[in-house]
Amino acid sequence: MPFKILETDILIVGQGLAGTCLAFRLIQKGYRPMVIDQPAISSSSRVAAGMMNPLVFRYLTLSWKAIQALPLAKIFYHEMEAFLKSKFLYDIPVAKLFSETDADLWSRKALLAGFDNFTDGQTHFPFSNDAIHYPFGAGIVCQTVWVDTALLIQEFREFLMDHNLLIQDTLFQQEMLINSDGFRYMAIKAKRVIFCEGFASKQNPLFSFIPFRPVKGELLTLRIPNLGADFIVSKNIFLLPIGNHLFRLGATYDWDDLTGFPTDKGRTYLLQQLAEVLQLPFEVVDHQAGIRPAIADRRPVVGAHPDHSNLYILNGLGAKGVMLAPFLVDQLIDLIEGKGAIDPEIEPGRFIRKSK
Ligand SMILES: Cc1cc2nc3c(=O)[nH]c(=O)nc-3n(C[C@H](O)[C@H](O)[C@H](O)COP(=O)(O)OP(=O)(O)OC[C@H]3O[C@@H](n4cnc5c(N)ncnc54)[C@H](O)[C@@H]3O)c2cc1C
Repeated sequence: MPFKILETDILIVGQGLAGTCLAFRLIQKGYRPMVIDQPAISSSSRVAAGMMNPLVFRYLTLSWKAIQALPLAKIFYHEMEAFLKSKFLYDIPVAKLFSETDADLWSRKALLAGFDNFTDGQTHFPFSNDAIHYPFGAGIVCQTVWVDTALLIQEFREFLMDHNLLIQDTLFQQEMLINSDGFRYMAIKAKRVIFCEGFASKQNPLFSFIPFRPVKGELLTLRIPNLGADFIVSKNIFLLPIGNHLFRLGATYDWDDLTGFPTDKGRTYLLQQLAEVLQLPFEVVDHQAGIRPAIADRRPVVGAHPDHSNLYILNGLGAKGVMLAPFLVDQLIDLIEGKGAIDPEIEPGRFIRKSK
């Protein structure tokens, strides 16, 4: 018996944060994209802590495009909440615990344009010393947000399934036919294909010219009955309150082990860092690992394939995917609709130009 052909204008490969945000925005604009996704336990988006922090604490700098991306992302996720009739975005400030010399640098940085949007540059003491060890005080970052990415993705997945827009399967790129009028994969015919595969794109032969550099990250979930939930605590590690006295403790960065499994090494590192800060009893209730999709030049990769028209990629969201995804999605849709060009800093062709 002949099988039924599924025709779509846009096929999205992958329903992590990138594919989810892209599909949502397209649906908002009146498109009817199909999504093909084979969920993986170690998918970055299911494991992510979900924080939106406009600052990079390691270098005390503003994160790339934070000024534009952060406000846009907040509006975007609020729109998703309204669409799905759900709640997954929470405002919560970050308390960055200072080392001996940090307070002075922090107060000077706070005078810089951009930085001053997010901190007053003062030294604060929001915790009791019986709870948190921080002899040099803390800088407070405002406008920071926690997005429950696992819930967001699960609820959007249910929406896609209810509307027959999801195919739960793996797309094997070698078996996708590229014709002059579009793409054919099994029973699917698509005019455009957009790869949002996360770190799995490292194996995608169509994008072998991109220097992917995925980074494994591990997180623990802790129960800390006596710690307040008013701040994300940050010092080398972060401690993020997620309700019911539960906190996410993260995260590790490992470029060598890309297995996707939690390790004793990761757990030991996180608990050692925690011991320098937390003075209260706690219990470990979960341990997860995921692989962040990142690129060697530490920028996302977004735009059209240099050789195949109507073939696109949205990847390299790195450690700031929650804040960046909506901003990047809008650039990509503008490109597809012929309304704008992609920032040369992030378009895929930059790697071809460099190698010539
Ligand atoms: C421990 C940890 C903590 C993090 N914390 C934060 C944080 O606090 N804030 C922040 O902004 N970011 C954080 N991140 C990063 C964030 O998770 C990523 O930036 C983002 O989720 C990446 O989303 P993605 O959709 O590109 O990739 P993924 O989440 O990997 O999604 C890709 C999806 O595509 C599917 N797929 C891949 N290939 C195929 C195929 N060929 N066919 C079918 N399906 C396919 C995969 O199974 C998966 O479902 C963290 C990451 C980790 C690991």
